[in-house]
Amino acid sequence: MSEQLKSMEKLVGLCKRKGFIFQSSEVYGGINSCYDYGPLGVELKKNIKDLWWKSMVYERNDVEGLDASILMHPRVWEASGHVDGFTDPMIDCRETKNRYREDQLSVYVPKSGEGLMYAFPEGAPESVAKKLKKARVSEEEFDVKSLSDIDVSAYENVVGPDTKKAGTLTEPRMFNLMFKTFMGPVESDANIVFLRPETAQGIYVNFHNVREASRQKLPFGIAQIGKAFRNEITPGNFIFRMREFEQMEMQYFVKPGSDDEFFEYWKAERLKWYERLGINHDKLKFHAHGDGELAHYAKAAFDIEYEFPFGWSEIEGIHNRTDFDLGRHQEYSRKNLKYFDQEAGEKYVPYVVETSTGVDRLMLTTLADAYAEEEERVVMRFKPTIAPMKAAVFPLVKKDGMPEVAHEIVDNLRKHFRVFYDESGAVGRRYRRQDEVGTPYCFTVDTQTLEDGTITVRERDSMAQERISKDQAMNYLLDRVI
Ligand code: ATP
Repeated sequence: MSEQLKSMEKLVGLCKRKGFIFQSSEVYGGINSCYDYGPLGVELKKNIKDLWWKSMVYERNDVEGLDASILMHPRVWEASGHVDGFTDPMIDCRETKNRYREDQLSVYVPKSGEGLMYAFPEGAPESVAKKLKKARVSEEEFDVKSLSDIDVSAYENVVGPDTKKAGTLTEPRMFNLMFKTFMGPVESDANIVFLRPETAQGIYVNFHNVREASRQKLPFGIAQIGKAFRNEITPGNFIFRMREFEQMEMQYFVKPGSDDEFFEYWKAERLKWYERLGINHDKLKFHAHGDGELAHYAKAAFDIEYEFPFGWSEIEGIHNRTDFDLGRHQEYSRKNLKYFDQEAGEKYVPYVVETSTGVDRLMLTTLADAYAEEEERVVMRFKPTIAPMKAAVFPLVKKDGMPEVAHEIVDNLRKHFRVFYDESGAVGRRYRRQDEVGTPYCFTVDTQTLEDGTITVRERDSMAQERISKDQAMNYLLDRVI
């Protein structure tokens, strides 16, 4: 196993052991691609969401908040293009029953044009090496192509990724990624509703409601955090690609013609935001979508990518969605979604610049980025702003009135912060336990506290210690962890 994958495995182990992330329905053997956030996970997740909300809504005058419902009128998804367009070509293996996304399969094709071809999933060509060795052929005799370049009639000569036989792959079938259910007691086509695959549409259909209620003028944005559901064909990489996940999306409505400028503005703003999240800048980059990659609605699109242990992957998308969405909702709902620009004295359908990121992906980003192994300890170097516990308070020993003083400090800090009280075991061990979950500060009550009212503060990363007055503990945290 590569070092990178080993570190991923260690991270997954730590997440379970320490109560960040559990497999959903684990006692029943788990359900693929769904996860539960444990006591520390839920704090980390909340802190990430709060930081996003703060920078999007609290610190700006031009962005309003919204929490739209998950179930929406089915016409929304016709207008948005998701009913027709939100599909991936998918291939099944008749033998193993495994399912693959066509665009994620590559294939070894003999240069001679004759003989078997070998399919393999993106990024895993080593799985073919064994098969070639067995068939006594050398890699040089093959070209690597995308499976979509192979004619379906030639599939009978293709050996699937997880099988030894040729001809087990089905032809690609379009597969809609939306989850369907029925509204009301009757399970008929007329009652089908979808679980939203993105939060954005709830924002578009509320454009006028929010604008009128908040008396905003263009340019302005609407921000929303909420669950989204996609029946992903190939979920995986822990919480990277899930079927139930949470998005943080902001749609910024602008005058047509000013969209390119705002697109550049939001690209820069969003990249900057990752510094606030404490992410290592060298592990972030932009990826521009080329013509073939652009979604049906987009004029321009950039992803922000993070270098995970399994490679560079998208964590956020910034899209110029033009007037596509409002235009389509206007057409399908027959309601006027134009904006009357009083200054210019004109009416138009606004353009939209979208920033869209996944809370779970940012969880994985912060966890992977914070994870550090040192000689004697594992330490999660979360930025204090997002650390699940802001501080731990220890009495050095369980006697001489130290626990009482420590409890007093904890009770006070609890008014504003998630803090942890621990009196069990050697103090060194208690520090290590806090390091492993990324608690930035530990306060220890000792004999000197009883004499002069000072406590020890120990900082997580440097492990440096200093003494402060116990009455200063609150201010100490207020200055450092907000
Ligand atoms: P991908 O190409 O990885 O499937 P996408 O381009 O379809 O992603 P968008 O539709 O742009 O993603 O969604 C915006 C953001 O929502 C993504 O950057 C990601 O952070 C998050 N996201 C999308 N799908 C998932 C998923 N299945 N699990 C977790 N987060 C997701």
